[in-house]
Parts: sequence; C-alpha cells; structure tokens
Amino acid sequence: MSDCIFCKIISGDIPSYKIYEDKDVLAFLDITPVNPGHTLVVAKEHYENLNDLPEELTKKIVQAVKKIAPAVVKGAGADGFNLNLNNGPAAGQVVNHVHFHIVPRKIGDGYELWPGQEYGEGEAQAVLEKIKNNI
Ligand code: 5GP
Ligand code: ZN
Repeated sequence: MSDCIFCKIISGDIPSYKIYEDKDVLAFLDITPVNPGHTLVVAKEHYENLNDLPEELTKKIVQAVKKIAPAVVKGAGADGFNLNLNNGPAAGQVVNHVHFHIVPRKIGDGYELWPGQEYGEGEAQAVLEKIKNNI
C-alpha cells in the first residue's frame, strides 16, 4: 500500500529502529513509546486489521510476539508487558496496517488499564447469546 506508513517502514523508505525481522514479520520501536522499548510487531504484507489477516500469518505474527516480548521486557528492564491490538477506529487504531503493541511495564509506572463496569440484570446472558450466534 503506497500511502501506508508501516509499508514504508517495511520497505525501508522510512527509517525505524528494527528489533526483529524474518520473512513475514517485522518488529520495530514505536516512535512515541508509552515506556522505552515499546515495540510494534507487524506482518510485512499489508492487511488492515485482524479480521483480514490470514490464518498462517496470524500464527506467525503471534509466534514472533511470543519470541520478542520477553526480550523487550528484559532489554527495557521491565517487570511485565501489555500486549495490545487496536482493531478498528473505535478501538483507537490509527495506522491501518495490523500491528501488535508490546508495551513494557514496570511495577508502579502509573499507567492504569481501562475501568470495568458491572452488568445489569440479564445483560451478560443477552450479550453472551448474541456473541455465540456470531461465532
Ligand atoms: P495504533 O493507534 O494504530 O494502534 O498505533 C499506531 C502506533 O504507530 C502509535 O503508537 C504511533 O506512535 C506509531 N507510529 C506512527 N507513525 C510511526 C512511525 O513513523 N514510526 C514508528 N516507529 N511508529 C509510528
Ligand atoms: Zn501497510
């Protein structure tokens, strides 16, 4: 995709700090990290989001994440990591080339996850049925 910023990083037209590369997958530092070492893992082929990503490539990108994440944690001197995929604009996806964020986390770094809410009467069962009907 000619106007995709991550495709330009993959092709080398835009520079990046590359962490890992194989035939199908590239991992590089996010330019505006939540914490130092925040890494993006992308498929080299352009797919907009997880819904479009073929099975085999999905496996490869997840395997790469599993390999890279412990190195990110150790290298960043972190205590753990968040694995995040913003799927679609409503979920905060800005770059329309599917990517995982590996965000190294330190105990007490101050970042909060999103707040939870309680289900109303019958709400869990209702949404459960609708989800199951769509699998
Ligand atoms: P999204 O919100 O789409 O899940 O996240 C896109 C991420 O890409 C953001 O965290 C942003 O900092 C990162 N990003 C955007 N442009 C560039 C770039 O040119 N180079 C790098 N390394 N990261 C970028
Ligand atoms: Zn792309």
